[in-house]
Amino acid sequence: MPMKIKRVKQSASGRKHQKEKRRNILLNSFGVLALIIPLTWAVIGIYKYEKEGAEEKNDYKASHPGIEKLIDPNKVCMATNAFMNGHEQMLVPNQEGNFYACSQPCISTIQLSEVERYAIDPVSNNRISKAKAFICLHPDRSGKVCYFESKENHIEFVKIHKNER
Ligand SMILES: [Zn+2]
Repeated sequence: MPMKIKRVKQSASGRKHQKEKRRNILLNSFGVLALIIPLTWAVIGIYKYEKEGAEEKNDYKASHPGIEKLIDPNKVCMATNAFMNGHEQMLVPNQEGNFYACSQPCISTIQLSEVERYAIDPVSNNRISKAKAFICLHPDRSGKVCYFESKENHIEFVKIHKNER
């Protein structure tokens, strides 16, 4: 009989000990989690940031033709000289020809300001009407465009800048 009591006692204390041990493990796990969670967020954050940067670069490549390609004039806002990612712009007819613009203020700029209707051909340095120009993207990848008076000048320009791409 005394043996039996002792055994029960032992197992009770053993159970208590086990319980404590389990609690300690749980607390330690929380401690580890408290460290791991912010670290994981930080790593995910950095990964996302880098991925978005790469996607932005890919987006530029996907939506922006190379400088060797001539761009349709109606894809350019001629007031800001920006390539509009392939979106067709509003027609601004003028006696000099057809201009294109992205918004009402830009339409007004084209209509009212002769300076904005003209550009300098970077190869010949001649002043040309944007309505009659051959257009390609600027090699600086700013999304701006260059205007040329002839296809030959554009080809010459590509030759000059081919190493920048
Ligand atoms: Zn515009």
